[in-house]
Amino acid sequence: MKLSGRGESVLIALGGNQGDRLAQLQGGVRAVHALEGVEVLAGSSVFETEFIGPGRQPDFLNACLEARCEVAPEQLLTALQAIEEQAGRCPDTHLQPRPLDLDILLFGERVVHTRRLTVPHPRMRERAFVLMPLAEIAGTRKFPDSGETVAEACARIEGRGQEIRRFSGRLG
Ligand code: ATP
Ligand code: CA
Ligand code: CA
Repeated sequence: MKLSGRGESVLIALGGNQGDRLAQLQGGVRAVHALEGVEVLAGSSVFETEFIGPGRQPDFLNACLEARCEVAPEQLLTALQAIEEQAGRCPDTHLQPRPLDLDILLFGERVVHTRRLTVPHPRMRERAFVLMPLAEIAGTRKFPDSGETVAEACARIEGRGQEIRRFSGRLG
C-alpha cells in the first residue's frame, strides 16, 4: 500500500498447482496489496484449469487481480518475483509445478519489451485460463497494441477446448 498519487491500473495473473492452491493465491493477493506503492482494487473468481504443455501436472488454480500501481513495471516484476520466492517457488521452475506464479498482463497503456519483461504478456491472448478471469474484472479494457478488448479476445478463443471450470473458493 502506501500510495501517494495516482498510479496506473495494472492487471496481474495468479496461478499455482502445488500445495494448498487456494491459500497460495489468497496469500499472493495479500502480499501484492502489502507492497509499497501498490493497492489491490479488484479480484476475479477462481478457476481450475488443466495443465497445458509437455508432460502431466496437477491442475492449476488461476485468477486475476487489478491493482493501482505507482512503481515502475520492472520494479513491480522484481517485487512479484520476491513474492513467488517467499511462497516457496524455486528458481528455474518454468513449465514445472509451482506454488505461485504472478505474471504482469497489462500495465496501464504501456507496451514494454525489455530483457526481463514483455507487456502485454506475450502468451495471454491464447490462454482461456487468463482471459476468462480477466474478462470478469476488465472486459472492456483494450490491448494497447491491437485495440482489441479483453472480452473480444476471450470470445475469440472460446471453444478451443481448454479445460477450465469455476472453483468454489474465492480470492479473499
Ligand atoms: P509464461 O510466461 O508462459 O506464463 P511462466 O510464467 O512459467 O511462463 P516464468 O518461469 O514464471 O514463466 O518466468 C520466466 C520469465 O518471464 C521471468 O524471469 C520474467 O523475466 C519473464 N517475463 C517476461 N514478461 C513477463 C511478464 N509480463 N510477467 C512476468 N514475467 C515476465
Ligand atoms: Ca505464467
Ligand atoms: Ca511467470
